[in-house]
Amino acid sequence: MDIGFIGLGKMGFPMCRRLIEAGNRLIVYDVRPEAVAEMVKLGAEAAKSPGEVADRAETVFASLPSLDVGMKVAAGDDGIIRGNRVKRYVDLSTTGSRFAVQVHDILKDRSIVQIDSPVSGGVPGAEKGTLAVMVSGPLDEIELIRPALSVIGKVFVIGDKPGSAQTMKLANNFLSATAMAASSEAIAMGVKAGLDPAVMVDVINAGSGQNTATTQKFPKSILTGKFDYGFGMGLMMKDVRLFLSEVEHMGIPTEVAQAVGRIWEMAHTENGAETDFSRIAQTIEKRTGVEMRAKKKS
Ligand code: NAD
Repeated sequence: MDIGFIGLGKMGFPMCRRLIEAGNRLIVYDVRPEAVAEMVKLGAEAAKSPGEVADRAETVFASLPSLDVGMKVAAGDDGIIRGNRVKRYVDLSTTGSRFAVQVHDILKDRSIVQIDSPVSGGVPGAEKGTLAVMVSGPLDEIELIRPALSVIGKVFVIGDKPGSAQTMKLANNFLSATAMAASSEAIAMGVKAGLDPAVMVDVINAGSGQNTATTQKFPKSILTGKFDYGFGMGLMMKDVRLFLSEVEHMGIPTEVAQAVGRIWEMAHTENGAETDFSRIAQTIEKRTGVEMRAKKKS
């Protein structure tokens, strides 16, 4: 299948590589020429703009860092909307449902079908093809791209309403953001009382407190002090803010989400958008006066 792919970042690059390895023809674009050059080495063809990608492929995927970039790529001067061949635009980015509906409505005027397909499972999941792939859009269109989505991960059809996969994704990421914040506070509390953070993580992972922060992020990036999990602080902040904005728009009262939002705002301000999201642990360490590092084995 001919597939256009825009955005060859931490997630886009491994997803695109898997699609090439599965025998698809990939036409790619990214504002970073070095990322495009790397993908060309793996067998992709380069395009000079999103519009050119959409001139050369009926199906165009995108994995982009912000709503501003997403809108520019979809509907900007040289965006997907200008393409002559494109029939469907599959957005793998996390954007929230209201943005997805906005893009859906703009592209509909040009008879381009918008399909939401946000993913979860991080860079390791993108590399192994084990992502949770949430998808919403016209069901016959989803069936056409199911083989490609299956290369990326496990496909969950959420519904045919535009944006519903985005709603699903924001609920998931709110839980992931909460797990990071709450686990950091729990472990910092234990360390303050004299417990070993590595022992705490082992116990929690054998017990009922287990979650994705304690099973994955603490062992890989926090206990080691590497802070290299592969998900940007700015991206996590985007997702938490999107969740809060959606619940506000829906008129739903939330208590936990407000507190989680405040701690992520602090972590974002202190560490910066370009750092890894695992640095939220350092924001909590600073407030607690401890370090949650595993002791070096002698
Ligand atoms: P990233 O910043 O690593 O990658 C974004 C890519 O888009 C970069 O290669 C960048 O050069 C490119 N780009 C920026 N502006 C562009 C433009 N105008 N035209 C074309 N390309 C442009 O981000 P990521 O971590 O790969 O995340 C991408 C999306 O996936 C985000 O919406 C994020 O929320 C979501 N996501 C990320 C993860 C993760 O663990 N990193 C997990 C699930 C979902």
